[in-house]
Amino acid sequence: MADDVITIDDLIRKVLSYSHDADIELLRKAYIFSSEAHIRQTRIEGSPYIEHPLAVAAILADMRMDTTTLAAALLHDTVEDSSATVKDIKTLFGNDVAFLVNALTKLSKMEFMTKEEAQAENFRKMLLAMAEDVRVILIKFADRLHNMKTLEHLPESKRKRIAAETLDIYAPIVNRLGIGWLKTEFEDLSFKFLLPELYNEITRKIAKRKEEQEGYLREVVEEVQKKLKEENITGKVSSRVKHSYGIYQKMQKQQITFEQVHDVLGIRIITDSKASCYTIMGIIHSLWTPVPGRFKDYIGVAKSNMYQSLHTTVIGPKGERVEFQIRTEEMNRVAEDGIASHWRYKEKGAFNEKDSRYISWLRELIQSQKEFADAKDFLEEVKGAVVPDVVYVFTPKGDIKDLPVGSTPVDLAYSIHTQIGHRCVGAKVSGKIVPLRYQLKNGDTVEIITSQAHGPSRDWLKFVVTQRAKSRIKQWIKAEERTQSVELGIRLLEAELKKHNMSNAMMKSDEVLEVAKALGVNSLEELFVSVGFGKISPQQVVNKLLPEKPVEEIVSKHAKPPAEQKGISIKGIDDILYHTAKCCFPVPGDNLVGFITRGKGVTIHNKKCHNLERLAIDDARLVEVEWKQEGETTYPARLLVEAVDKPGILANLSALVSSVNVNIRHLEASSTPDKTAHIGFILEVKDKKQLTALIQKIASVDGILRVKR
Ligand code: MN
Repeated sequence: MADDVITIDDLIRKVLSYSHDADIELLRKAYIFSSEAHIRQTRIEGSPYIEHPLAVAAILADMRMDTTTLAAALLHDTVEDSSATVKDIKTLFGNDVAFLVNALTKLSKMEFMTKEEAQAENFRKMLLAMAEDVRVILIKFADRLHNMKTLEHLPESKRKRIAAETLDIYAPIVNRLGIGWLKTEFEDLSFKFLLPELYNEITRKIAKRKEEQEGYLREVVEEVQKKLKEENITGKVSSRVKHSYGIYQKMQKQQITFEQVHDVLGIRIITDSKASCYTIMGIIHSLWTPVPGRFKDYIGVAKSNMYQSLHTTVIGPKGERVEFQIRTEEMNRVAEDGIASHWRYKEKGAFNEKDSRYISWLRELIQSQKEFADAKDFLEEVKGAVVPDVVYVFTPKGDIKDLPVGSTPVDLAYSIHTQIGHRCVGAKVSGKIVPLRYQLKNGDTVEIITSQAHGPSRDWLKFVVTQRAKSRIKQWIKAEERTQSVELGIRLLEAELKKHNMSNAMMKSDEVLEVAKALGVNSLEELFVSVGFGKISPQQVVNKLLPEKPVEEIVSKHAKPPAEQKGISIKGIDDILYHTAKCCFPVPGDNLVGFITRGKGVTIHNKKCHNLERLAIDDARLVEVEWKQEGETTYPARLLVEAVDKPGILANLSALVSSVNVNIRHLEASSTPDKTAHIGFILEVKDKKQLTALIQKIASVDGILRVKR
């Protein structure tokens, strides 16, 4: 690294090259302050710490940033690492520099977090900092770039963590902000440290391919140049190499080998006007045959990060495919510098963020983060927002929207507004009604049809692709299920109270609240929800209000709700989501009936289950079901045993159950004053046959009074 060490004089030379009247004194002062602050510190490899802020400032000077940014870069670690304060910096360097250093100090803590939640939190912080002043994030990026370049000095675990974070968070933001060169650097450096062997292999193969095809590409370049000259069109023609991580991604995505990647090498033509771009493309297509489907016009419709270029692939002179990118000087600058171009040093020192789509993207993102309850969902949204494969569609008003490939009218509706998503009932594409699961195509004009009386359906989750739509639908369903569960819970409890000749007025009583607390829920509403969802049975609640507590209650309270399983069918519909009811614990072989719950699939009951009476209040929700027993799967079943209370009875019963290879999931026993033992089992059985055989065995044991399910 020693050769790359930047001195303050190097930095000043760089700055003067693009800004003759730059405030060099400010930079010298910042350098001296920073050197003193870091005087006792070294980088991990042993070099003086000041090399790091100098390197960071140099990266920013290469991006032609203003001296305020560069001074802040020189000072970015001083408050974090020394006794210097933001106040000192304000006094010495003014408000702007102090503001930037302060923001960076706050951000610096984020590098030490690992969990996804924390990562999402970091992301929020970055966005907020960025919204205040984009220069904060540009310095942060430069800081990360220098750290990535010197990552080899860190222990492996730390290296991998930082590289993963760079790939997951920094690269997508940089891509979205349009800083092409930095995205490439972040991706390749991360790739190098995360998958070193693969990185080396791909880099080696790229070099080899370059060597092999050098002559061939030169031939193509010369031919294009000659033709442009004939037609009197300006154009700089050069060959380019796709970056390693880009190739790796392509191999992964298309499941192909390096040898099958056609556009490792390509040609870029930079010309003077938009019109020339199209003319040049025409010339190339007349020289060689274009590959169908490979022509992309990002000039007509720019990518969401403002990238503009024409792309086309042709069958070159020797039958090899060659990819061309054609763009203007200005488009090339946007492709490389993105948002940074707006922050470049300008003669009058004024920055132009007017008309910057990056800024409006940022604002939208920050707005949307307020709506996300879950930080993880938010991170997914952001990652989702940077998926490069997009389709462009038009609203009836002619506004253009970009959405990930595979998006449906529902995705579009949610991207316009949450309420439009919720109320969406249909869509028209070019005047024709399409299904909601229709996959949008480039250029579609899409009209969303809404209805006030409508809400999203769980089915939508099967076809929407944007995170935004997914999380909004889930939120809605959650809220809706809750409302319906409260209603259902109240109705079920009322019915149970009535059965015991108790008044509905009980429902809101303190006693019920006590019962709720005893059952582990904190409010009446929670209790109703739990009953409505079937987490707590109404009998459990009402039994607690009654003087005595039969064994059924004890057992069902302790039985964990069985996990969701598959393998039953309803009128021939396979693989629906179901639970077995924990009031009757049906097993294959029983006569069954299904109860459609709100949002939690179907609960399977034994036809004899006494709860069905109550559930039948909503006849429409009862369905015929058929159980297809599968292999060795076991199901929970309940047995209630009454026995003469004598020593050893419990041990005998357990041994008997185990001897027939049945697992006991739960066991609970109590005895009454008249010396009767009540024993409740939750067992895991294969089917009714096995259970019946076991019941007979238990019944024949000495001292057993009664066995029932
Ligand atoms: Mn730093």
